[in-house]
Amino acid sequence: LTVLGIETSCDETAAAVLRLTDGRAELLSDVIRTQLEEHAPYLGVVPEIAARAHAELADLTVKAAMHESGVSYSELDGVAATSGPGLIGGVLVGMMTGKAIAQAASKPFVAVNHLEGHALSPRLGNDCPFPYLLLLVSGGHCQFLEVRGLGQYRRLGSTIDDAVGEAFDKTAKTLGLGFPGGPAVERLAEGGNAEAFDLPRPLLNRPGLDMSFAGLKTAVARAAADTDMSEAELKDLCASFQGAVTDILSTKAALALADFDPGEDGHKRFVVAGGVAANKAIRAALTRVAEEAGATLIAPPLRHCTDNAAMIALAGAERLAAGLVEGDAGDLATGARPRWPLDEAAAKAAPVYD
Ligand code: ATP
Ligand code: MG
Ligand code: FE
Repeated sequence: LTVLGIETSCDETAAAVLRLTDGRAELLSDVIRTQLEEHAPYLGVVPEIAARAHAELADLTVKAAMHESGVSYSELDGVAATSGPGLIGGVLVGMMTGKAIAQAASKPFVAVNHLEGHALSPRLGNDCPFPYLLLLVSGGHCQFLEVRGLGQYRRLGSTIDDAVGEAFDKTAKTLGLGFPGGPAVERLAEGGNAEAFDLPRPLLNRPGLDMSFAGLKTAVARAAADTDMSEAELKDLCASFQGAVTDILSTKAALALADFDPGEDGHKRFVVAGGVAANKAIRAALTRVAEEAGATLIAPPLRHCTDNAAMIALAGAERLAAGLVEGDAGDLATGARPRWPLDEAAAKAAPVYD
């Protein structure tokens, strides 16, 4: 199965061609055009700017991915595009592009949930069979999910306020570190003392897997407002913030792993995906937690932690291979969903925009 994937839900315009043979994925091309420079002056993603940039870049990005892959449109078995959740303007651009190509080439269109893309991203390179425990930590989400199979996701717990990536971005904004915040905070934290500031860890000792990061972000803002910070203090504050986040994620991951039923092969697999999974300190801490629980940590390469189209092509190909896409036209009649939770019960209640 050969599938073209398109991703436009946030600030990356991306297209990729992937071939799935006997469950093994091979990437034939993987093009990512980031809009970071367009949004950087505003210290965050501006939806209107993103939508316009996607409209300008989508065709070129798809052409580049097709050209690089050496595959012709007629050789495709389907076209997949992110259909939510995300910024509606961008999602619509990607869907229209994908639907137009699918129709012109008489191939099925596959509407992919962006979160399913992140959830399947470890399967792009690694040997990562179902089931696995997933910690999804991205710009808009922070949740533990049990992944039993394709389309079988159960949410075990999530943030009750900010997402982790959002907390990194807001912290960076408060400290004047620019956008995106994650990499900037991580760089400064490397030289700092994580014990220097006593920051809160909300919900840490409560039972259950829900998490909270809003209080942490506020505490950073308060610490930063008090003093004219030296470079050393700034590093300490970043290290303390990253340490608190790491603590929360590690503690909850240990709880989740203790309860996780690995199924038949008895092998506990723990996947961390999403942009924050690019953070080396967090990866290292989660590796230790996994080892202590007798589990293996699997994390996608950095390129596939943040937004990309390879994971969207993979989700589309796996859906086609599993027979989850109906009819010759596939999901051509499906609309965009700005909110689209992964677990089906919650997903049914989300609105659809045609
Ligand atoms: P969602 O997938 O929830 O819709 P998104 O697509 O915007 O959100 P991603 O692209 O997966 O999210 O990740 C972007 C986020 O990851 C940003 O908030 C960014 O600050 C964060 N991030 C990226 N690199 C790092 C890092 N090294 N350390 C911490 N956070 C990071
Ligand atoms: Mg992004
Ligand atoms: Fe994402």
